[in-house]
Amino acid sequence: MPHDYILALDQGTTSSRAILFNYEGHVVDVAQKEFKQHFPENGWVEHDANEIWRTQEEVTLTLLQKHSLGADQIVAIGITNQRETTVLWDRATGEPIHNAIVWQDRRTANVCDQLKKDGHETSFQQNTGLRLDPYFSGTKIQWLLNNLPNARSRAEKGELAFGTMDTWLLWKLTNGRTHATDVTNASRTLLFNIHNGEWDDALLEILNIPKSLLPEVHPSSHHFAECTLQGLEKVPIAGIAGDQQAALFGQTCFDPSKAKNTYGTGCFLLRPAGDHPIISQHNLLTTLACTTNETLQYAIEGSVFTGGAVIQWLRDELGFIKNAAESEALATSVENTGGAYLVPAFTGLGAPHWDPYARGTLCGITRGTSAAHITRAALESIAFQSMDLLEAINADFKNTISELRVDGGAANNNFLMQFQANLMQVPVVRPKVTETTALGAAYLAGLATGFWSDQETLANNWVVDQVFEPSIHKDAADEQIARWRQALEKAKSWATD
Ligand code: ADP
Repeated sequence: MPHDYILALDQGTTSSRAILFNYEGHVVDVAQKEFKQHFPENGWVEHDANEIWRTQEEVTLTLLQKHSLGADQIVAIGITNQRETTVLWDRATGEPIHNAIVWQDRRTANVCDQLKKDGHETSFQQNTGLRLDPYFSGTKIQWLLNNLPNARSRAEKGELAFGTMDTWLLWKLTNGRTHATDVTNASRTLLFNIHNGEWDDALLEILNIPKSLLPEVHPSSHHFAECTLQGLEKVPIAGIAGDQQAALFGQTCFDPSKAKNTYGTGCFLLRPAGDHPIISQHNLLTTLACTTNETLQYAIEGSVFTGGAVIQWLRDELGFIKNAAESEALATSVENTGGAYLVPAFTGLGAPHWDPYARGTLCGITRGTSAAHITRAALESIAFQSMDLLEAINADFKNTISELRVDGGAANNNFLMQFQANLMQVPVVRPKVTETTALGAAYLAGLATGFWSDQETLANNWVVDQVFEPSIHKDAADEQIARWRQALEKAKSWATD
């Protein structure tokens, strides 16, 4: 099938991308366009859903025109997206009633606090696998219904639709004919019961959200609809997954022996749990992984707020480097950090610590501490934080992984990857194709349409770029981890606001 392609739409937090994949799972070409970030108040983040659609449409058409491709050569379309970001629109006109509220938005923090005080936390955690946090869609929907004129009465009459970005794009790609999502996106709303795979009536009642707003939920690999966009008419839209679950699938981590970590602005570590949910006892999230049939699949997820972003800080605020890649040469120009530890808790600490009051802390500096030492400590901090996630994940599973598969911008840093392998005492493996998020969406769409026959074929497509084997003894790793934990304690509970 050399002339047939799968088109992946990767709707990210800062840009919309369209990526063409061939049968070998290689990237043929990418088109990308950024869109505007809106910050209407402190802690609020919004996107214009119409702009998201326009940029997504534009990059798609650009890619098709550049390669003179039509509907005949595109076997299927897969969608992957920034998760949790919430939009409500008018079913009759397809017009959003407000900007989309982005996952980073904290405006419902007080609502979550109140829900906790009212004793609802356990019920949300047991049924959705999530924590009560403004991050997730549920309280964002509630905010829109409570704060926009007539929104609630219109929702109750069935005039409005809710969607995360996959659902919104699917609606636009089908000219309003299809209102659906997949299990991975549904599992990030605080409204979806991860045990029975249905919207949870009791939780909807607590949040006072009418069920008529909600999309149908299907497996991630599923014939959702036929596209109506000009140039792609009748092409099946056959794969949908939230970005982190799509990356897990793209890395072909299909069983609990392998986990994946994405080293982007933050870090996201996911480990598949199979078809029985593990509700975390170690402050992690239980989430639904990609599915190819009606059987639900689970994963445990932990995230680090400041990952690669600490390298941007070295570049933009401290001026130590001109670009992120330079951090590697600078860090390896010294033999160690000279005893320095950097805890980049710039916006608090995520899993498994969950301390919003923690702040960035630099410990152990001396008169001899240089930019190189601090840069090395910064890279090490990304690995230490990921190690904390893995340790919590392993505690939930009661065993460890046999390898960690990596992707994201900072996974290109060989020093960081080697240090990570040393700390975790497992091989860290970087694949040749690091566009794993888009690849995951492509795989889901390709499986549903028979382009790829089964998951084994996908696993065979996965090709190693480099393996980083642990090169220090476990005792030496544990010593460094213990010292890191001391530094962590100093960073915790610092902010007073
Ligand atoms: P996102 O999808 O979150 O925007 P990317 O996967 O594009 O992130 O990765 C970008 C992040 O990775 C930035 O924070 C950048 O500082 C970091 N980064 C990129 N390349 C390197 C590198 N070679 N070494 C260390 N950090 C890097």
